[in-house]
Amino acid sequence: MHLYNRINKEELKQRLAEETFERKTISFYRYFILDDPQTFRDDLFRDWFPLDCFGRIYVAREGINAQMSVPEHNWNAFLETLQKYEIFENIPIKYAIEDDGKSFYKLTIKVRPKLVADGLDEGSYDVTNVGTHLSGLDFHKYIGQENTVVVDMRNYYESEIGHFEGAICPEADTFREELEIVTDLLENQKDKKVLLYCTGGIRCEKASAYLKEQGFKDVNQLHGGILEYARQIKKEGLESKFLGKNFVFDERLGESVNGQIISRCHQCGKPCDTHTNCANNGCHILFIQCTECAEQYHGCCTSECVHEKETGLGKPKEERIVFGNSRKYRKSLSLIRAEELKIS
Ligand SMILES: [Zn+2]
Ligand SMILES: [Zn+2]
Repeated sequence: MHLYNRINKEELKQRLAEETFERKTISFYRYFILDDPQTFRDDLFRDWFPLDCFGRIYVAREGINAQMSVPEHNWNAFLETLQKYEIFENIPIKYAIEDDGKSFYKLTIKVRPKLVADGLDEGSYDVTNVGTHLSGLDFHKYIGQENTVVVDMRNYYESEIGHFEGAICPEADTFREELEIVTDLLENQKDKKVLLYCTGGIRCEKASAYLKEQGFKDVNQLHGGILEYARQIKKEGLESKFLGKNFVFDERLGESVNGQIISRCHQCGKPCDTHTNCANNGCHILFIQCTECAEQYHGCCTSECVHEKETGLGKPKEERIVFGNSRKYRKSLSLIRAEELKIS
């Protein structure tokens, strides 16, 4: 048996479209020290491939992060495979809410150096010594209470368009930076109740372990992240303490939680929370742009990029969104804006 897919994408997609059965879309993760991630990875592939499971699964020395779809008729067989491994004991499985079962068309299991890149040496802290998990409703209750700090563990391009009331949103471009900034900011608040949150919870698992190692006494994290919070709030009919949009990594680049717009267009400054990537092939940076500015700048981030795009001078980068350097970027944009205002 081959341990990788050997069929081309088109055919796989065709097969998925023609399937006559239903699939469950699920996700789960756990930090757990694995001695031999490669063997574990191969074993999982041998278990799940014959069951027609699809998905994107990452395995590292520090655990597993999986998003996958399982044919309904193989569901019990799938659960049985989980019982073979200690890492899956009582693992919470999340079920997708809006589920058409078509999220994946093949099984991809990759070994990565880490589940969440933190830039730290392996073993520099115990990733399994995590903080207290809070349900969406408990998290909701603690926000705004005395001696409590709420910290957004996502990057700035995410928290800029949506975050919890009163949350600390560090201007970080990477998770590593985020850890550094948060530790510095909260240096003298190690006795407070710390409430961490991120999109789906996986980053906070790690952040909570890190902060505990740094001497924080009462570290808590939102279990299931903003996604789960939004679901619970809606179900209970409570007013959301998360304001604005939740950034998600799909074509929509975000879904509104409470309908408010809390960010501004990076070019003209008017209220806007639409992320876009610069239309210049040599740039592709992710930024916030309103429809008027999109028209004026031809979907580009600066006049320079407009020029490169029109003249084809921009050296093409691979087709992807460029994250990062948001601080530098926002600063340069406001400078450019000031320059242009001076000229006109
Ligand atoms: Zn604008
Ligand atoms: Zn650009």
